[in-house]
Amino acid sequence: MSSESDCAECQGPRAATVTVAFVTVGVKRIEWKDGDTWKEGPALVPITQSVQLRVIADPTGASFPPLQPEWSSNPNLPEMQIPGPNKSVTPQAPDLYTLTATAGGSSADITVIAYSIRMLFPHGDPTVSATDWNNHSSDAANEGNEITFKSHNTQPKCTLTCEAEILPAAAEAILAPKVTWTVDNVGTIAATWSSSVTGNSGIGQGKELTATYQSQNGLPPNNDDFGRKNVTLSFNGQAIDSSDFEVFYLKYENNHPGPNQVPEGALSSTRSKNWFYYWNQVCGDPHAFFNSKTKDTTGETPAMRKWNYQTQGPAYDKRETWYDTRAGESLQRMMGGPLTDGIDCFATCVRHELVHVSQIQRADALLGALNGQAGTIWERGWSWNKAINNHVTPGPDGRLGIARFDDNHNAIIDDGLRPIEFLNGKSEFLAPQSDDVDLDTNDDGRPDGWMLGIEEEAQAAETIENHTFWTSDWGNPGKQHQTNRKYDD
Ligand SMILES: [Zn+2]
Repeated sequence: MSSESDCAECQGPRAATVTVAFVTVGVKRIEWKDGDTWKEGPALVPITQSVQLRVIADPTGASFPPLQPEWSSNPNLPEMQIPGPNKSVTPQAPDLYTLTATAGGSSADITVIAYSIRMLFPHGDPTVSATDWNNHSSDAANEGNEITFKSHNTQPKCTLTCEAEILPAAAEAILAPKVTWTVDNVGTIAATWSSSVTGNSGIGQGKELTATYQSQNGLPPNNDDFGRKNVTLSFNGQAIDSSDFEVFYLKYENNHPGPNQVPEGALSSTRSKNWFYYWNQVCGDPHAFFNSKTKDTTGETPAMRKWNYQTQGPAYDKRETWYDTRAGESLQRMMGGPLTDGIDCFATCVRHELVHVSQIQRADALLGALNGQAGTIWERGWSWNKAINNHVTPGPDGRLGIARFDDNHNAIIDDGLRPIEFLNGKSEFLAPQSDDVDLDTNDDGRPDGWMLGIEEEAQAAETIENHTFWTSDWGNPGKQHQTNRKYDD
């Protein structure tokens, strides 16, 4: 304030008077930069990453020169030596750091939480054999990263145990709620978390928790629904760690969601096993069935093995093949081919039986228009495993035996197309004077010209190398469970 009136004493002009307000500028608080936003503490920073700090002066304003506060930290951080209003620190070890900025007799603190968070469970590579199950840091450990739908009822479930390592432990109460988890579905089944984000049950939350897959209607329907999945750990909404795990079914249970897969005519068979249901999607056949009552062979093609002249007897679909429990185990080769086990054994059995299906088709084709003709000996096609066969077709006269002659002496001329004539052993076929065409001149059961026997040809097709299909086997035990390429672990 000043005035310029004359001085009463000296009559001269008055001197200007100045009043100065002394204001102390001090440290008010310290802020930290979270993305683009300045916040008050505590500051969260992953170890080895930097965080920016700034001192807010009190009062603030452009008219005040910037403070040059001194810094200190407990425990010590190396960046404390240079004074100034701005500071960037890069903690190397997880801890709770108390940083203090001091200027003009005033000071403020901020807590910097330098954290280290990683996934403890699951861990390791589930695709390699488990050799070190109890070592959390071992890549070879499979413990916890291979889970199996347990219980054989229609609501099987499996549980993944998840655990995070959160350091420093002293900040766990602050950090753990910011740790969240997501996990792949198994087919259409989403995991349920034992602890989840409020309002979102699909996101797990916390340090230790479980993700449970529970089906309401049997196991997942597709082989591809099982297998490798991913679990991701996020902090503050940002993914920071992930791990793979694998999901299996119980090989010998039968709680798959498919039909029984038991063929007609084998009703005493048990419902198909899980392995049959899933492997059949990989290396099977649409007309394959499970028949636990097949006693003397791993596989069977009933339209060949159980071939029958009788129209009233069972007529099997000529594409149908049957497999029993041994088709999922280990198969010793008869023809010197590869020894196969597990899913590759099943693939080999299917390959074998499909040769028989092919043989049926090829032999039937030789009968031409006669194949399947009702009321004739070819009604069921080429005969198999019958002492008296039907491996013949009429010559140019269109009739079996001698044309216009009662070859079998039953007072009916040219009646040899009827099964009863044939079964009575009074065949008119191939009489010396007939022009019938013999399709199996040596009566060995297979058409002339086939180089290999029925079984030999099927066995020669058993060329599948063991472990061809191992990456599609999600059975427990199985070739991806625990030890790789071992079908019975
Ligand atoms: Zn065979």
